[in-house]
Amino acid sequence: MEFVQPRSLPEALAVKAERPEAVPIAGGTDVMVELNFDRRRPEVVLDLTRVPELGSWERSDGGVRVGAGVTYARMVTELAGDLPGLAIAARTVGSPQIRNRGTIGGNLGSASPAGDCHPPLLAVGAEVEVASASGGSRRIPADSFFAGPKQSALEPEELICAVHLPAATGPQQFAKVGTRNAMVIAVCSFALALDPSQRRVGTGIGSAGPTPLRAGGAESFLQEELTSTGRWESRRPLGETVVGRFGELVAGAARPIDDVRGTAAYRVHALGVLARRTLTWAWDRYRTGRS
Ligand SMILES: Cc1cc2nc3c(=O)[nH]c(=O)nc-3n(C[C@H](O)[C@H](O)[C@H](O)COP(=O)(O)OP(=O)(O)OC[C@H]3O[C@@H](n4cnc5c(N)ncnc54)[C@H](O)[C@@H]3O)c2cc1C
Repeated sequence: MEFVQPRSLPEALAVKAERPEAVPIAGGTDVMVELNFDRRRPEVVLDLTRVPELGSWERSDGGVRVGAGVTYARMVTELAGDLPGLAIAARTVGSPQIRNRGTIGGNLGSASPAGDCHPPLLAVGAEVEVASASGGSRRIPADSFFAGPKQSALEPEELICAVHLPAATGPQQFAKVGTRNAMVIAVCSFALALDPSQRRVGTGIGSAGPTPLRAGGAESFLQEELTSTGRWESRRPLGETVVGRFGELVAGAARPIDDVRGTAAYRVHALGVLARRTLTWAWDRYRTGRS
């Protein structure tokens, strides 16, 4: 096995152009599991940990550009103010060791329907910036990035460079059900983003479909409800009917299967609960002016 260690992004992209079969490695928390279990024997491994362009984040145009190599630990400590939904999700990932190594780019690269970054990215309408040596860079909306279980829109010569997210103008939440409290793949998860500046509601469902999903019907319902009743301005309580209907619409958007972690029926039920719970938390914060 050849181990290539580029020192810059152009160098890394040149390697990927020449050897599209090269397997990128960032934190290695997915790749090393595959190698250890002999599920993968790549001829070339492309180490991205020494590519400085991937390891930073910056604010630009009311948003944040998060480099693919930014770890969960940094999302928690550095990005909770601008990107609260992503930071809450990052806090639920693995253990301190996994959060210190695992990256947002690696989560996207694996494209697991259960990846914890994905629901918050869908909820805020994030874009994934990818690049290749010959094609330059392009941005893929998060909801077009996931093509199937562990499949993405990334071309063989491309690398994930960054993720672009708008800075939060309202409350964001994320909640996940696991078979225990930590070190667990989600049985199902849900992210919610309320954006009062755009009068927008965003959602993301994890681990309850072949890809992470948005609950479009639930988004339109709540947007319409908040706008037509003037609640964005009045911040009046939502009431159980609205919260309950939102939960039903989120549960109805799931496309889960039965597997070792849970049944499809349980996932649908649990998603309704997570949707009601996160909406209640988020609206309480909004009402009390804490975001
Ligand atoms: C014990 C344990 C617990 C875990 N818990 C969770 C959890 O709670 N939630 C969760 O979502 N995940 C969890 N994971 C999975 C893993 O930690 C995450 O998916 C993590 O984000 C992977 O990031 P990484 O940097 O380690 O990726 P790597 O393992 O380095 O790479 C993952 C994939 O992405 C590709 N890749 C990496 N960077 C790029 C790039 N810049 N461009 C293109 N492709 C790239 C790689 O080729 C590979 O296919 C866990 C893993 C372990 C071992």
